[in-house]
Amino acid sequence: MTQRLERLMFWLSGKLPRSLVYFCAIRVAAHATTGYYSSSVVPELPAMEALERWNCCGVCGQMDKGQTGEHPCPECGLPYIWDDEEFISLNVEATA
Ligand SMILES: [Zn+2]
Repeated sequence: MTQRLERLMFWLSGKLPRSLVYFCAIRVAAHATTGYYSSSVVPELPAMEALERWNCCGVCGQMDKGQTGEHPCPECGLPYIWDDEEFISLNVEATA
């Protein structure tokens, strides 16, 4: 997302009804604490971590942390976990 589009989205989010934003926040929190992330301790989850989890790829579940590899995900282009040992250590850090 370009910086200009990000500013537009941020502005637009300020115009939405508070109740809609509230339920959007609930969706982000639920996404960050269920399924793959169900072992999360909910009261200890930082807001920024919940946002990162929301923003990860819907196919492979990865976030861009500068990982490299030869076999990219068809959706986001990030290499799959088995490509690179460095990524495995980065991913373990992110989920610990
Ligand atoms: Zn992906």
